[in-house]
Amino acid sequence: MATKKQMAKPTSLTTSKTIKLTKSNYYSHDTDFQYMSFSVFRDFEQCEAATLAKLKGDWEPSSNPELLLVGNYVHSYFESPEAHQEFVEANKSEILSSRGKTKGQPKSSYKVADGMIKALSEDDFFNYVYAPGDKEVIVTGELFGHQWKGKIDSLCLDRGYFCDLKTVDDFHKGQWNPVLRQKTNFVEDRGYHMQMAIYQELIKQTFGIDCQPYIFGVSKQVPPDKIAISFDGDGQFLMNQALEKIKNDQDRFWQVLMGEEKPKACGKCDYCRQGKQLAGFTEVSDIEIS
Ligand SMILES: [Zn+2]
Repeated sequence: MATKKQMAKPTSLTTSKTIKLTKSNYYSHDTDFQYMSFSVFRDFEQCEAATLAKLKGDWEPSSNPELLLVGNYVHSYFESPEAHQEFVEANKSEILSSRGKTKGQPKSSYKVADGMIKALSEDDFFNYVYAPGDKEVIVTGELFGHQWKGKIDSLCLDRGYFCDLKTVDDFHKGQWNPVLRQKTNFVEDRGYHMQMAIYQELIKQTFGIDCQPYIFGVSKQVPPDKIAISFDGDGQFLMNQALEKIKNDQDRFWQVLMGEEKPKACGKCDYCRQGKQLAGFTEVSDIEIS
């Protein structure tokens, strides 16, 4: 019989106690203690203390809700007309302007989002590749001994590929990478190659089919730019590298999640800055820069 201690710390070994993922609980933090996800892994890489506090519900990052909502607004449109209608109804107060002469009309960022939707829906290549897939498909599996979860934007099992939809400011704006000491593109900067590697593996474990990853990007520029990205050449290398990173780093993150290791504080993020107390001097040449 399992001891009380074991019961309180679910791991991939206690699969019988694992919460079954559904559309309604997928984003609940309870399931984050049983399944690692791309976004939680990325958060842990940034700051363990902030991530744990967020997952436990002790701290809420002050993000710009509009940025997230605009992305979800575009996503829901390509999921189904019902999903889009439901999203618009649920977020009416955020989407519609409440002041001035534009009162009752969509705010400007949603007009831009409508332009992004139009740009994609009028694109034959996008319609041929993205549109036919099953939308928002939940997949699970084991990566290097731990349970993971993922949600596929558009999955075409019969054609052997899956797609992720990304809304991006500008595809061609480079982002400085302090480790590589050079600018990288938005895919590498946001770790989307890692996300694609995870999803490819989880799809294989869920359905037994090896699928090619594709990203469709639409920019928030007026008029919007579009891009369809494959991972055939160097992309494969990047994906393998990302899986290696998961293999090397995730044991510690799981230990932090299960309360077996103390989370490290990065000392720089929103969470770490609040209530920060100086512990002495930093030598001028030791100031960290990124
Ligand atoms: Zn931090």
